[in-house]
Amino acid sequence: MGIQIYIDGSYYSKENAKISVFDHGFLYGDGVFEGIRAYNGRIFKLREHTERLYESARHILLQIPLSMEELEDATLDAVRKNNLRDAYIRTVVSRGVGDLGLDPQKCSRATVVIIADKISLYPQEYYDQGLEVTTAVTRQRNANSMEPRIKSLNYLNNILVKTEATHAGVMEAIVLNDQGYVVEGSGCNVFIVTKNGELITPPSYLGILEGITRNTVIELAREIGLTVKENPFTRHDLYIARECFLTGTAAELIPVTSIDKRIVAEGTPGPVTKNLQEKFHHYTQNNGTPVYPGE
Ligand code: PMP
Repeated sequence: MGIQIYIDGSYYSKENAKISVFDHGFLYGDGVFEGIRAYNGRIFKLREHTERLYESARHILLQIPLSMEELEDATLDAVRKNNLRDAYIRTVVSRGVGDLGLDPQKCSRATVVIIADKISLYPQEYYDQGLEVTTAVTRQRNANSMEPRIKSLNYLNNILVKTEATHAGVMEAIVLNDQGYVVEGSGCNVFIVTKNGELITPPSYLGILEGITRNTVIELAREIGLTVKENPFTRHDLYIARECFLTGTAAELIPVTSIDKRIVAEGTPGPVTKNLQEKFHHYTQNNGTPVYPGE
């Protein structure tokens, strides 16, 4: 039996899991989503992801027809239903069915979808040897128009960035904002280690999605005594960084060893990156909300 997908309280097979073409999520990208992982029978940072989903929904005045607790229960249930211990969960809340106009008030009820499945973003060798990246010509959306802190269904900017990476023959691209500050990747956050040994990541006010993996890595880094700063930096800082890595729920923590053909340090993952990779792996295996009773 294939995976069972949750739509508005019922489960459907992959073939039968369907949404109306009048759903404004489809017509206009009007909606919000989360990508969540489960490790070892536990959902990682379930409360943080649920909170971010509700915050994104709040900003766009989208009423999620479940309480946070009900949605968390549904998320746990969707993993259980598919007998998964390690999973990638995609929760989508779209505006729901309306007419062909933009007006969200014509959509009477939001649609809630939970897909619990697997994901493998990059082959294992990249986690060991590092990723080559490019910087994108496409800039980050300005926070005064579509705030990047909203995890909305409108991912076209990110898709253009990802396409630039593919065209450059690499798997990820780093985005700058309209002032030339580094912000994030197409679906991940970015960190550098400077020559002073400090770990730096862009602050959320520059216009980034404040990653839950990012925040976890900041905490783990501080625990091992590293100086972590949320400071703006430019492409030049990327080029002269001693280490660089990306973080995200799907990407986890992946080293970057080349940026626009500038080799990062020795061209292999550095000691801080490797240490944090190890700490992150250990943390994910031992924390989270249990999916199965009695565990
Ligand atoms: N930035 C963007 C644009 C993303 O889509 C993601 C993935 N959700 C991230 C950063 C990383 O966030 P998280 O660690 O919460 O997955």
